[in-house]
Amino acid sequence: MAEPTIAAIATPLGEGGIGVIRVSGADAISIADRCFRAYSGQPLSALKGYQAAYGQVIDGDLVLDDAVALVFHAPKSFTGENTVEISVHGGRMMVQSVLRQVFACGAAPAAAGEFTKRAFLNGKIDLADAESIMGLISAKNEAALRISRAAHGGRIRRETDRIVSLLLQTAASLAAYADYPDEEIPELSPENFGNLLQTVCDSCQKMLSTYDAGRLIREGIRCAIVGKPNVGKSTLMNLLCGQDRSIVTDIAGTTRDVVEETVTVGDVTLVLADTAGIHETDEPVERLGVDLALRRAQNADLILAVFDGSKPLDEDDLRLIERVREQQTLFLWNKSDLASLPVPSVLDGCPVLSLSAQTGNGAEALAEKIAQTVHTAGLDPDAAVLISERQRACVQTALDSAGQALAGLQAGLTLDAVGVCVDDALAALLALTGQRVTNEVTDEVFRRFCVGK
Ligand code: GDP
Repeated sequence: MAEPTIAAIATPLGEGGIGVIRVSGADAISIADRCFRAYSGQPLSALKGYQAAYGQVIDGDLVLDDAVALVFHAPKSFTGENTVEISVHGGRMMVQSVLRQVFACGAAPAAAGEFTKRAFLNGKIDLADAESIMGLISAKNEAALRISRAAHGGRIRRETDRIVSLLLQTAASLAAYADYPDEEIPELSPENFGNLLQTVCDSCQKMLSTYDAGRLIREGIRCAIVGKPNVGKSTLMNLLCGQDRSIVTDIAGTTRDVVEETVTVGDVTLVLADTAGIHETDEPVERLGVDLALRRAQNADLILAVFDGSKPLDEDDLRLIERVREQQTLFLWNKSDLASLPVPSVLDGCPVLSLSAQTGNGAEALAEKIAQTVHTAGLDPDAAVLISERQRACVQTALDSAGQALAGLQAGLTLDAVGVCVDDALAALLALTGQRVTNEVTDEVFRRFCVGK
């Protein structure tokens, strides 16, 4: 059965210069012709692809708005189907009334991500590309945008295709070797299969190594700001947020709840939590805050451990250092505007930054120091950076299977058994790009999209 023609609002709901209603499917142009009247008197069906007409959206004799209708003929459109984009005055009520009229003329409401899903099903984009579109829309900083642009430009696809061709070469060589084991062909030797599989493993490993850093750049680095009362945690939070977000007082233990804020510092996005001062306390309400702070610190991507650099470390500071030093921690030696003591030797070898949260002195180095500590600094955003957990899982399966094939080869397993592992690795990579993928996985990818995309 033919897919119904769908419609949705493609721009954010709110007041704006224009709002766009997108209609896609075999009947898109005839449906639009029922609710759009061009001033030229020409129907939209008479227009060539990429041509626009100026006119009115109508409901019988009632004029809903002036509009521009842009026509795309299949397959030369984003979805690969006939498409009409109707631009009207932006505004929630206006675009909703035009959408209702498009529905009344025969279109069905689009599901979340359905336009992009159709683009995928019609072979206009691959699955990794579809995911990159989500990244383009939701990018929170310049580096995140570059990662999604690289993926959108086909970097993931090209790298995956390269590994797939190595695996196909391996599979073909294995089959040929099984048929002609006595031929003296250098390409058909177990040693050569081993080299190919090793290259596959190395390439998969390289792709995987980009995932964690890419995720931190895209989603933001979950930071826990910890330290004893009065060392300057709230002042630091306020400095980063550029406003008085947390309550700053010099009475110990006044920040008891976790306050969360997303900020972009240089090229890093931080999801910050200013937590109650971490120190040993028996006071029950404060105790809760301290527990929360420590739990939060355990789940953080990065701990910003703050110390009062104008005072020698005490027992609480030393205990905190021991608790967090095994995690990814940046030690902040605060209050450098006061007569600051040298950084103590107990922090030798740890990432440390000396700064004044109050004056902001030294804070300009913070973004770079954070990027170094969480290893996002070394990531090339223009490389093939994996951008979803689904992609990561596919490459991990490919690596595991290729690794098993290699181990099997070295252990003298039958070539059939090695071939099965090679096929598993291939299947995982073809699932990544969507060349071989189940409907359930496809549905899961597009469920994350918004309606209208
Ligand atoms: P918290 O309890 O760790 O959140 O500490 P606060 O941010 O509330 O700061 C405690 C006190 O230290 C306040 O009086 C701040 O003004 C002061 N303070 C914080 N950072 C600095 C700094 O860099 N230099 C100086 N001189 N004082 C600071």
